[in-house]
Amino acid sequence: GASVQDFKVSSATESVSVIKGLQHIHKKLISTCEVLSVESLVSADANCSTVLVKFQHDQLLYSPGDHLAIFPTNSKDKVEKLCQSCIFEDEVNMDTPVSLIEAPENEGVMSRIPPATMFTALTNYLDIECTPRQCDLEAMLPVCKCDEDQRQKLTQLSTALITISFFFSRIQMHTTHGPKLKPSWVDFVTEFSSVRIPAGFYLTELPVLQPRYYSISNSPSMYPDQVHLTVGVLEYQVKSENGERQKFGLCSKLLETIVPGTKIYAFVRRFPDFQLPSAIKSDIIMVGAGSGLAPFRSFWQERTELASESGAGELHLFQGCRTKSSLLHAEEINGAVNSKVITSSVTAFSREKDMPKAYVQDRLLECRELIEELLLRKKAHFYVCGDIKMAIGVSKAVSTILAGSTRNGDMTASDGELDYVEIMKQEGRYHEDIFAV
Ligand code: FAD
Repeated sequence: GASVQDFKVSSATESVSVIKGLQHIHKKLISTCEVLSVESLVSADANCSTVLVKFQHDQLLYSPGDHLAIFPTNSKDKVEKLCQSCIFEDEVNMDTPVSLIEAPENEGVMSRIPPATMFTALTNYLDIECTPRQCDLEAMLPVCKCDEDQRQKLTQLSTALITISFFFSRIQMHTTHGPKLKPSWVDFVTEFSSVRIPAGFYLTELPVLQPRYYSISNSPSMYPDQVHLTVGVLEYQVKSENGERQKFGLCSKLLETIVPGTKIYAFVRRFPDFQLPSAIKSDIIMVGAGSGLAPFRSFWQERTELASESGAGELHLFQGCRTKSSLLHAEEINGAVNSKVITSSVTAFSREKDMPKAYVQDRLLECRELIEELLLRKKAHFYVCGDIKMAIGVSKAVSTILAGSTRNGDMTASDGELDYVEIMKQEGRYHEDIFAV
């Protein structure tokens, strides 16, 4: 059980820089990148936004296929709102550096969150969008100050079977459709406006704000001091006490609206399983849906830079998106097709008016002879990028094509129930980059 002492902070002589603080928390070597530009990649009538964000950097080392991890920041309004709910002691306020009072056995060891102002800790280090859990309320109740009637409600919430999400969407309790608002700590202190929480409680209890990973979307040979991302902006509706509420993904929305010149913190995560084949003559098939096109821009750019006149292998692209207006990097793809860097480019639209729904896996099945020829005879490499559902669909389509082929004798196993995708994975020729959501 937590005690009041656990949540005490004292003023620190100075705070460490944010970059050092993030390094301490995440145990990564972090760099600063400066935003050069943010360009919309889809026309205004597309109902989802995707942007190309370009950064300047001076020390990132990466190759096509690697990821860039971005540290998002929480909005000033929300951070200030939480700071207003804090109890500070000993002349401390949201702009004075604080550190948690350490237990004697930890003396000398930097605490979980290094010395920082409360404003910085809530902006850069802690996840304030998470939903308070019943155990958080239980830990908070003995140490918070609040009105008696709100304390009663909170006590009920910390023990009752009703979940906090239900409490916050109470007016829509009977609505069964669609996701409900998962209240954040900010929603929580807005609703329970009399609650005052020791600053140290947040430093101890809030989870760490995690970086978001993005597939690097440019070739380092073409842009030696830049890094580009293709970012789909997450946007969805939830039901709340006041009806529908629009929610945005923290990092993707930040990247859509970020102002050129802004500096962000990032690090490269190498992804050895999703690299271009070392031989430039190798043929490749690239299959991506939505922002899953991201890493392939780095592939065709790299091939554009490195291929000698006739030496490079074939490069076949399958792109899936909702409508024609949400096709990504269309102009650049056309250019690469014209210059013969991209051998063929095929599109599949899942929500285009007056067209039957089609997914990339349908297109693969339609091109089965080409796929067979490339994978079986030419030993091409196959790359898939996007969400897990699409990756499963694509893997099934490839298995179907190869299992139905009359020419699969040169693949190593010979069982009737062969999983050709598995064999290709063992051969290092089937590569997946799967986004969690
Ligand atoms: P968050 O603020 O983290 O919100 C996400 C949360 O919102 C979800 O966990 C869920 O709780 C909630 N949520 C989402 N949708 C709904 C819904 N419909 N209803 C209710 N709740 C919902 N993205 C790209 O755009 N481009 C890339 O190149 C790219 N590469 C990636 C590579 C890897 C290896 C991984 C793991 C992910 C990649 N992503 C990429 C996804 C990216 O990392 C982020 O997950 C994405 O941008 C969303 O982050 P966010 O901070 O905007 O959203």
